[in-house]
Amino acid sequence: MARVHNWQIGRGMSYWYPESRPKRQFGAVFDLNKCIACQTCTLACKTTWTSGRGQETMLWNNVESKPYGFYPLGWDVRLLEALGAGEWRAQKPQVGQGGAQWVYEGRTVFEAVGPGERVFGFRPDDQDYAFPNVGEDEIAGQVERGAHFATRLSGAGPRVPHEAWMFYLPRICNHCTYPACLASCPRGSIYKRPEDGIVLVDQSRCRGYQECVRACPYKKVFFNAATGTSEKCIACFPKIEQGLQPQCFETCIGKIRLQGWVSTPEHAREDNPLDWLVHVAKVALPLFPQFGLEPNVYYIPPVHVPEKFLVMMFGPGAEHAVRTYQEARADQGHPLRALLALFGCTPRTTERFRADPREAVAMSEAGEELVRVPVTEPIFVRPGFDAAAGVARLNTP
Ligand code: SF4
Ligand code: SF4
Repeated sequence: MARVHNWQIGRGMSYWYPESRPKRQFGAVFDLNKCIACQTCTLACKTTWTSGRGQETMLWNNVESKPYGFYPLGWDVRLLEALGAGEWRAQKPQVGQGGAQWVYEGRTVFEAVGPGERVFGFRPDDQDYAFPNVGEDEIAGQVERGAHFATRLSGAGPRVPHEAWMFYLPRICNHCTYPACLASCPRGSIYKRPEDGIVLVDQSRCRGYQECVRACPYKKVFFNAATGTSEKCIACFPKIEQGLQPQCFETCIGKIRLQGWVSTPEHAREDNPLDWLVHVAKVALPLFPQFGLEPNVYYIPPVHVPEKFLVMMFGPGAEHAVRTYQEARADQGHPLRALLALFGCTPRTTERFRADPREAVAMSEAGEELVRVPVTEPIFVRPGFDAAAGVARLNTP
């Protein structure tokens, strides 16, 4: 095992290979406040890449309802339980250095290994993949009869976080900086591309041992029984190579996704939209950073969910992220409002951006303008009762 630095957990850790970061790293931000679980992303991926034999229950992109939805069944809770509790310790920010102000004191999947193991994990059963919509729309918490109306009638408005809650979690491969799938493969069939950090399985080398399926804590490598090899999300690399966003990003109905390049904290650039969201505003957080893989898909957490649950899932920055998002909603001039307006507005990869209170501009690395959008769109509200026609009207802005 080598010693590497993982900025998401604020410390060094063990990993099977020495640290080797790509020239630039594929990354993404998903705004969970906007996902409507329409599954357009899931189908876009399915029809593009996984409609063949042996891929029937394989979803490189899936959307599950939290807290009770899973694909495959129990993927996260089983691992969390097996790893045991871990604490985050606050540490003073170091002057001139970005990075985590928290240190994770539990065990990562690379540190919880037993003798002869490279990664701590488990392999789901075939049945666990058979119900990808299990738990869909099931809520957590209970509402006392009439409590919702009572709060509203008192003039206080709905309470946040809600007493009853759920949210949608779209997931793809995280193209991790320290991929567990890659570390676990005894054949060396999995590799991380130096030019963009995308993680791929070499189909000609793979012999179907399924060590990667066991190792990936996000369960984003799948075994194809028809071909006898493992397969996974390829980040639509033929599109990435042309400066285009992947299918699941381009087709997203809720415009919740932004694909780009993400840096380490010390190399973060303020005009790079992903760096700004992850390192400057710290509003986008990794999924289960405590697993230790430094995943490169980041999530803006949902504002209506209890903080404890968000911290368990996205780390200790959750409270700050939720507060920042809520402040931006109330502040017309907040740069986050402008940047959010750019999500889903161009099929091209946004490498730089510029924002002012009125409009946001997405640009390529060379400064070419890709799209320009207004931050606030005009809303027309009709009178509730049209006296001339004698009808009541419903406004749906
Ligand atoms: S999410 Fe899983 S499959 Fe994707 S790179 Fe990380 S470990 Fe590998
Ligand atoms: S297409 Fe977008 S809004 Fe629809 S489920 Fe996927 S991520 Fe959510």
